[in-house]
Parts: sequence; C-alpha cells; structure tokens
Amino acid sequence: MHSYQLAISNIAEARTVSQCILLNADYSFMNVVHWKRALRLVVKKKVVVLSYSERQILGSEGFAMRIPAIMKLIKFIRSVYRSRVPFSRRNVLIRDGFTCVYCGAREGKMTIDHIIPISKGGNSTFENCVACCRSCNAVKGNRTPSQANIYMSQRPYQPTISEFLQLRLKRLGIKNFWHHIEFY
Ligand SMILES: [Zn+2]
Repeated sequence: MHSYQLAISNIAEARTVSQCILLNADYSFMNVVHWKRALRLVVKKKVVVLSYSERQILGSEGFAMRIPAIMKLIKFIRSVYRSRVPFSRRNVLIRDGFTCVYCGAREGKMTIDHIIPISKGGNSTFENCVACCRSCNAVKGNRTPSQANIYMSQRPYQPTISEFLQLRLKRLGIKNFWHHIEFY
C-alpha cells in the first residue's frame, strides 16, 4: 500500500488531490475521475474498489468514508477500444503530445500541418494532420515533407478512445502504474 501512495502523489502534483483512477473490467486504464464521481460509481455498484486513498470524507450521518484511489469497472466497456477519437485540431495536438513531429520542438504555439497540403488534395484527417511548430510550418509551406526535405518522427494515426486515455495517464506523470496496484 505504501508504494501506491506514490502513484497518487504523482497525480496530486499533476492535477488535484481529489482524483481516482478508474480501470476497465480487464484492468486497462480508463480514466481519472473526481472523487465525487468515484463515490457515485461505488454507490451504484458499477465498480470494485481495488485500493483506497488515505483521505476520508465525513458522511452526513457522521460516519467516515475513505475515498477510493483505484477502482475497476464491473462491466467491461468494449467500445473504448473501437471508438475513434473525433478529428479536431486540438485532438491532433494531444495525439502528438504538443510536440512538432518534424523537429521535436515543444515550445511556442503549435500549428497543424497538413502533410499533403489542402491545395494538393490533402484532407483534414488524423492520417494527414500533424502537430507542427511555426518555423517548420513556414519552411514546409505548400509542399509535401519530401518536397521540403523534412521528415516526421512518427507516422500519424487515427487514435482510439483507449489510446487517448493512455496518453492522459502518461501526461499525468503516472509511470509503471502496475507496480503500484495491489490485487486482492
Ligand atoms: Zn518544428
């Protein structure tokens, strides 16, 4: 239980102290939810609590209740593995970690680059759009990457909801997540 506290303090640093990890029924990461939502899921018997945080809330009748730290859904939600994240500029930036795919820059305002420019028949899709810093976008201009002699560090893809949730876990700074869970 001790190492588990470490995982929570990572979340605390990244977000607030009042969030709980929600896992799918197969123990894959689903989301980070506010403790109020966590308690609602417990009351509705939608989840099994795998471990509790040290924090408590006081119920109206005066009894103390510990806030869940990690919960698992009882019913498996399959759709997260199939459902596609809707295309938007912001979702392209999230997928690419707000990092320019051409030069790796993370600073400054990120733009969206159409790999095949719209003027050359390129579409606004996850497969044709990447995060791009302003200077790379200016260099590339109205050309394809090979015409501009610049290269992408990763191949753009259509993300699923599940992949986005994994990215969120990463952004929250939770690494080696499985080491922190005690199964019982
Ligand atoms: Zn760049």
